[in-house]
Amino acid sequence: MVKLGRTIKLRLYPNTSQADGFLDMTQEYQRLANIVSQWVFDHDFPLSWLKINNHLYKNIRQESSLNSQMVQSVFRTVVARYKTIQKQMKQHPAHYKTTDNKWIQVPRDLTWLAKPISFHRPQADLVRQSNYSFVNGMTQISITTLGKRTKLAFSNKGFEDYFQADWKLGTAKLVHNQGKWFLHISITKDVADFDSKKGPNIVGIDRGLRFLATAYDHQGKTTFFDGKKILLRRKKFLENRRHLQSKGTKSAKKKLKQLAQRENRWMTDVNHRLAKTLVAAYGTHTLFVLENLTNVTFNTDDLPKSLRDSHHSWAFFQLELFLTYKAQAVQSTVVKVSPAYTSQRCPRCGLIEKTNRHHDTHEYWCIQYQYRCNDDRLGAMNIEILGKDWLNGVKRPKIQTLRLLGKPGS
Ligand SMILES: [Zn+2]
Repeated sequence: MVKLGRTIKLRLYPNTSQADGFLDMTQEYQRLANIVSQWVFDHDFPLSWLKINNHLYKNIRQESSLNSQMVQSVFRTVVARYKTIQKQMKQHPAHYKTTDNKWIQVPRDLTWLAKPISFHRPQADLVRQSNYSFVNGMTQISITTLGKRTKLAFSNKGFEDYFQADWKLGTAKLVHNQGKWFLHISITKDVADFDSKKGPNIVGIDRGLRFLATAYDHQGKTTFFDGKKILLRRKKFLENRRHLQSKGTKSAKKKLKQLAQRENRWMTDVNHRLAKTLVAAYGTHTLFVLENLTNVTFNTDDLPKSLRDSHHSWAFFQLELFLTYKAQAVQSTVVKVSPAYTSQRCPRCGLIEKTNRHHDTHEYWCIQYQYRCNDDRLGAMNIEILGKDWLNGVKRPKIQTLRLLGKPGS
């Protein structure tokens, strides 16, 4: 079983007095969170909400108008935030240069914090049933504010699918953003694992620039996902960037930052849609085979000169992440294989020959076997073959470099 986790975002429509109630509650929650954070900081970071509860609950309940569940929710929220920071600090040790010019690494823990973690925004974490629930046939939501429960309308636009299916609703975060109120609910669902014995579809996916992705499946069907529009759009982004950089003014710098954010959001959206399309096309029980692109430099010969240096390799990793995430939900999976020789091996005779690939015509041409093939398709074919190896028990599938001297099969 895999536990899937998502967050759905509901827009809330409170009337004026409900909105005032939300504001009062989230400000009080924030105030308490900062008090608790200070206490945790002053007491050697006891990261157990029960411990904090034992020390602080009584006093806080006497002076605060938050109900008991909400006070405990504050403790959990503060502990969770410290744990997140603790993890981040562990992952990023400090580096020093010693007097004899050597770098040393020093692990970091919470004692490295100079001040308590601060909760900058009004917020509130609501526990299902005690602090929020759906009422009137799921058409309204009921939320506890200071002292009383209140019902209001909401919209789940964009999250309808999650809303009705068998997802379990968990803790919700009440969020105030640009004058609007939202409820972010974390939801979970248990789904069966990918089962390699169920005769899965096998799809080799070659990621690239001219084609965002080329997919080749075990039935021999190839699907190309064109990347030309993406390249054009990125070229536009680059031109705008150059233009703003040449200005060098303060307002140009601000615009540059906005432009970068816009480009990232757009690329993220492209990847989301591509992952969604792939998963929808091949469905459940599919083995998606990708190349492991860590430490790989991309061949950018196909790119316009202006774009070669600005190639976004993060976009490839993001696609991998999204695909993994969406595949899991339908009992499919992603496996990564070695990228070595995937664009050089003839899938018919197995011969590895670099010069068989003709970059100018985007063709692979094996003289021995009189085999011609589009070079992106060839990559996807070889990747698909490695996927079969994985299904047959090879842990780290890669193309073997032995060179055949005679005819195939000899
Ligand atoms: Zn061949």
